[in-house]
Amino acid sequence: MRKFEKSHKLDNVCYDIRGPVMDEANRMIAQGTEILKLNIGNPAVFDFRAPQALVDKMSESLVHTEGYSDSKGIFAARHAIVEYYKSKGVEGVTENDVYTGNGVSELITLSMQGLLNNGDEMLVPAPDYPLWTASVTLAGGKAVHYICDESSNWYPDIDDMRSKITSKTKGIVVINPNNPTGALYPVEILQKIVDLAREFNLIIFADEIYDRLVLDGKKHTALASLAPDLMVVSFNGLSKSHLIAGYRCGWMCLCGNKKGCEGYIEGLNLLSSMRLCSNVPAQSIIELSLNHTEETEKLLLSGGRVRQQRDFIYNAINDIPGLSSTKPEAAFYIFPKIDVKKFNVTDDEKMVLDILREKHILLTHGGGFHWEQPDHFRIVYLPSVENLERATSQLAEFFADYKQN
Ligand code: PLP
Repeated sequence: MRKFEKSHKLDNVCYDIRGPVMDEANRMIAQGTEILKLNIGNPAVFDFRAPQALVDKMSESLVHTEGYSDSKGIFAARHAIVEYYKSKGVEGVTENDVYTGNGVSELITLSMQGLLNNGDEMLVPAPDYPLWTASVTLAGGKAVHYICDESSNWYPDIDDMRSKITSKTKGIVVINPNNPTGALYPVEILQKIVDLAREFNLIIFADEIYDRLVLDGKKHTALASLAPDLMVVSFNGLSKSHLIAGYRCGWMCLCGNKKGCEGYIEGLNLLSSMRLCSNVPAQSIIELSLNHTEETEKLLLSGGRVRQQRDFIYNAINDIPGLSSTKPEAAFYIFPKIDVKKFNVTDDEKMVLDILREKHILLTHGGGFHWEQPDHFRIVYLPSVENLERATSQLAEFFADYKQN
């Protein structure tokens, strides 16, 4: 019988965020076990509702958005995105520099496919949002991981980044605010990354999808605003900031100096036209969304739901003997450290499986984010405080006598 295997192009593509833990969770769910999911950054699963104005706008627009749009997106949406970047201090971008996408995900893959040849290297953070590593690999490139340092608030280690640049390096991926650590990088760190990119002639890929989910009154700096002389490909979208991950709405903007990147841009235009265009009804709400941020802002203020949940999870995790964490400043993730000696942990995926089987809580192990040591896991703190309370008391019970064998 003829066998159909997966393409060799996928051989080294690692997307561990799926895998045995998810398989086990699905098996348990199919058997009727109730699982508390702390593994997905999907606000709708946790009773966050899309702002009504956006739902209305999307419904109204359905009749006018039946056809394909320009492959980069409708003009009004791209214009609103240009205005957004201007408001963040990014000068010189035009509607022509903006590509809308079916979520940022599609554009991450497209941006790597358009640039990398076999063996080209891309600096990617560890821990990372794993789609970046997977997309670099699928495009034939090699993801070279630079360390984000927990002892410095999870900021990128600039010396490590520098030591990993070779003649094959084409760019640096920066995820700020960060998934999975919840870190928000200060201007000084961003400036050092820009200086490195300038010194070695690299393109910066700035994934800023959480820039409207910043806590404690802190301010996000758009990386492109610091580097008008460099090519910075900036990514953003509505999935998280507007609680509408299912609408699939994101964008990418080519900021700064495009000199020398004409060939790359030709590749991006080709790939963009090959998918015809992104979901047009979703594009139709971009303009309104970018001027409609109050509902999310309320969630982040003192007394707001996301802020309360962050405060709760941060304290509760640090109260569990053997666990510790830095305080997340943005997004809705926390990346606790486990005392591997105390718990004898050598396999973080097994630990997460043990938690799932014993306590029915679904988490993601650090290795799912290309974190090499078996000493971290990620919690999505989108569930209500009540559910987080339940989860953390179960985790406290679990870790009270856990020893991995
Ligand atoms: N970038 C980061 C850092 C993310 O955490 C996510 C989703 O979790 C994405 C990109 C993809 O977002 P979307 O495709 O929904 O726009």
